[in-house]
Amino acid sequence: MELLDFKQFEPFNRLREKMGTEEFGFFELFDPALHLIGSERSELESPGLLRKPEAIKILPDKTLAIKNSRVLAYIPDENWYRTHREYPAFHLAMCSRLESLISDHPAQELLLTTKLSDDYNLLKIRSNGEITMVAHGFVVCKHCLHTLRYNDYDEFRNRRRGHSQKVLSDFSLREFYRFYQQYPLSFGGKYRPE
Ligand SMILES: [Zn+2]
Repeated sequence: MELLDFKQFEPFNRLREKMGTEEFGFFELFDPALHLIGSERSELESPGLLRKPEAIKILPDKTLAIKNSRVLAYIPDENWYRTHREYPAFHLAMCSRLESLISDHPAQELLLTTKLSDDYNLLKIRSNGEITMVAHGFVVCKHCLHTLRYNDYDEFRNRRRGHSQKVLSDFSLREFYRFYQQYPLSFGGKYRPE
């Protein structure tokens, strides 16, 4: 069967004219190896996916993704922060801190999520051995902001310290995802008309 060439198909071209679109769009065929299915999307949103570091895709801009969605990543273990005396922080990119964490603890699973929140869940082991989930306040990882030079954030340049501190304290995930589209990411169409 010969397929109609829609670019030569007058009714469509008139429709395009009416819509004011000059360009032909392109679309990607759905591929579950590349594109999240509905249940994965809702799982990513809540409670998140636990994954080994090698499962995380690092995009050319160094942000983190699972299939066609950007994600943030954190260690979901309350004990970790207690022993390292760190306030919990989530990562947006493959920063120096996340890189060294992965090379020192390659088996450490990370929780990946698309959820926009001030609190994220941590696993807490109670003294009786029972594991519970607790919501904990989080901050953004400042090494990630540096890696992305987010709003000119620079952790080493003293002259910009005041500015960088403000970027850090004003940080909002909602704003962040306006710069870095969260979903759906497009990796170039499998089918792209000439
Ligand atoms: Zn980071």
